[in-house]
Amino acid sequence: MKKKILLHICCGPCAIYPIEYLKNMDFEVTGLYYNPNIHPLMEYIKRRDALLEVAKYYNIKIILKDKDYCLDDYFRKVVFRENNRCFYCYQMRIEKTVSIANKGKFDYFTTTLLYSKFQKHNVIKSLCEDLRMGKKVKFFYHDFREGWKYGIDKSKELNIYRQQYCGCIYSEFERFKKELNN
Ligand code: SF4
Repeated sequence: MKKKILLHICCGPCAIYPIEYLKNMDFEVTGLYYNPNIHPLMEYIKRRDALLEVAKYYNIKIILKDKDYCLDDYFRKVVFRENNRCFYCYQMRIEKTVSIANKGKFDYFTTTLLYSKFQKHNVIKSLCEDLRMGKKVKFFYHDFREGWKYGIDKSKELNIYRQQYCGCIYSEFERFKKELNN
């Protein structure tokens, strides 16, 4: 029987390589879209819908957590600790993933955050290891960054929406602040 893995997914393009890799490892892959860090809401929806296209292409199930998209929860975690906001942002999403994977009797969990060259890879890995302590579900670690270029090329081939910034309103500002005068 195939082992069940819950893959936390931040967006469609980042999901491509991890889904292919895990399917090739003979896992039964279920995706989880839980990302209250993505602002504004319409951007969250665009990324969600792009992921649903990817999921259809690879024929995997997605657990959508739209009802848990809560701006307040996100900002309560990061306001006054903006310099370390990514840590709290990862923590929030990984905590939820571990909880759903454990309750859902998945054998493993992992995250597409481990695919991005722009994220703090070792911080994410440590959080996954720490947050599963005492739980039955296991963390499946793999450095998905090896598939960075493949994922980009494939997302272009599939014509999947590709975002211009990480997710939160802070990252949107950092990406586009050069548009401001002065
Ligand atoms: S930059 Fe990205 S990882 Fe960091 S807090 Fe913003 S959305 Fe989260």
